[in-house]
Amino acid sequence: MFEELYDRLGIAALDRAVPASAGVEFLRPVNPATGKPMPVVRAISAEEYEAMADRSVAAFREWRMVPPPRRGEVVRRIGEALRAKKADLGLLITLETGKIRTEGEGEVQEMIDMADFAVGLSRQLHGLTIASERPRHRMMEQWHPLGPVGIITAFNFPAAVWAWNAMIAAVCGDTMIWKPSPRTPLTALAVQKIVDEVVRSVDLPCEGVFQLAPADEAIGRRMLEDRRLPLISATGSCRLGRVVGEVVGRRLGRSLLELGGNNAIVIAPSADLELAIRATVFAAVGTAGQRCTSARRLIVHESIHDQVLDRLTAAYQRVRIGDPWEDGVLMGPLIGEGSIAAMRAALDAAIAQGGEIVFGGNRLDRPGFFVEPALVKADPSMPIVGEETFAPILHVMKYRTIDEAIAIQNAVEQGLTSAIFTSDLREAEQFLSPEGSDCGIANVNIGTSGAEIGGAFGGEKSTGGGREAGSDSWKLYMRRQTCTINHGRDLPLAQGVQFDLDS
Ligand code: NAD
Repeated sequence: MFEELYDRLGIAALDRAVPASAGVEFLRPVNPATGKPMPVVRAISAEEYEAMADRSVAAFREWRMVPPPRRGEVVRRIGEALRAKKADLGLLITLETGKIRTEGEGEVQEMIDMADFAVGLSRQLHGLTIASERPRHRMMEQWHPLGPVGIITAFNFPAAVWAWNAMIAAVCGDTMIWKPSPRTPLTALAVQKIVDEVVRSVDLPCEGVFQLAPADEAIGRRMLEDRRLPLISATGSCRLGRVVGEVVGRRLGRSLLELGGNNAIVIAPSADLELAIRATVFAAVGTAGQRCTSARRLIVHESIHDQVLDRLTAAYQRVRIGDPWEDGVLMGPLIGEGSIAAMRAALDAAIAQGGEIVFGGNRLDRPGFFVEPALVKADPSMPIVGEETFAPILHVMKYRTIDEAIAIQNAVEQGLTSAIFTSDLREAEQFLSPEGSDCGIANVNIGTSGAEIGGAFGGEKSTGGGREAGSDSWKLYMRRQTCTINHGRDLPLAQGVQFDLDS
């Protein structure tokens, strides 16, 4: 049905191109809307990974010496190539992940935005000049390329997360090896083909800068232990983050962790409910609840709790579920059978812990992995409310005072995004203050998901503390060097220390 698309992206019938010899393994993505197999992708072997890492080190030696604005030119061309393929790549993302068409294309737009941002950044990798306490001395900070970066990505943003890292890493002078999710290797391969074409067309030493390692966890594990990769940027579950933190920490490498979220929206009595309901439905149901920023908890003032629940139920009834590539569909499938089981288990746990399902939660009777989004009346004390179930479940809870709302919002182990809907300036400012939300992202009168790339993205606590994309996140991809230059004829020591051989 989508053969022409696969052909245009150069990813059709890949299994036929490779002899089925012993030891060759394939990743087998499935279209979650149909349950049918998509073209397979050959996984790399451990030996191939070793050669790839050596190539990455060799490429780094040259790439680090290319002036950053010239590196930006390669990224600019990648952005142009992505613009040309936006519709095709967006549709492929839709087919492989089940996210709706506008979100698939939105993901490619995010990659383009990252490329544009990084091009500008390539002329702004600036350090500070610092006043020295010693006469005729100057201190400065400069930023140098770090080395080959290992990028490990999750299934739900199969291309954008790579761009958050790769576009920045490339202008910073780093090379990279990308291990995508084994559930979305086709999107990764299509992106790599687009990048390879750019690399072949430019007259700069960028061969080996961008490499793809389609593989499962075993190669990922090898990357974590690999001292040739000074930085591992890992996006995925908190479970993954604990392994990365431990293994990379053992070799004292640097890790950038973008992990799970359990995001909440607070709706205060003064909220514009029209906005609040729309934002909540997008945050909780959009991408079938499979965003790290999906809203999983709704904390509603007791005076409007029943009204909000009624309006949400009415809105949920109007959400069109279906093939994600069709116009008008707002919710596609979950990624696989395991996600359906996890959703069922979470709903059963909610009921056992005293919750009540007020809407949805059933599997749809059709091929693929479709469910109804679920609304659950809950209490903050229920253990299941503290967990990230990667499915469209929204736990709705009551609060009495703003202090209580903030305490409930902060009472989970994850700390990615948060939002408050209020027209009360004091409440909004309290939510953003040091005694407010403890998350990496805090919003007023917009929902928890759909961040722009200009701001640093990431979260606190078990979300891992990493920051990617905009602002000054680039600093993590570089090594900082403090330099002191003496242009005088004396050698004064800092802190007034005397060390005179003639005294
Ligand atoms: P996952 O943790 O199962 O897998 C993520 C990646 O890690 C995959 O490429 C996987 O192969 C790899 N991996 C798993 N175990 C590994 C190991 N031991 N060593 C090396 N690599 C290993 O996550 P998922 O199911 O693909 O994605 C969903 C999760 O990702 C959710 O928890 C979601 O919140 C999170 N996520 C976070 C962000 C963010 O920016 N904070 C963005 C997207 C997704």
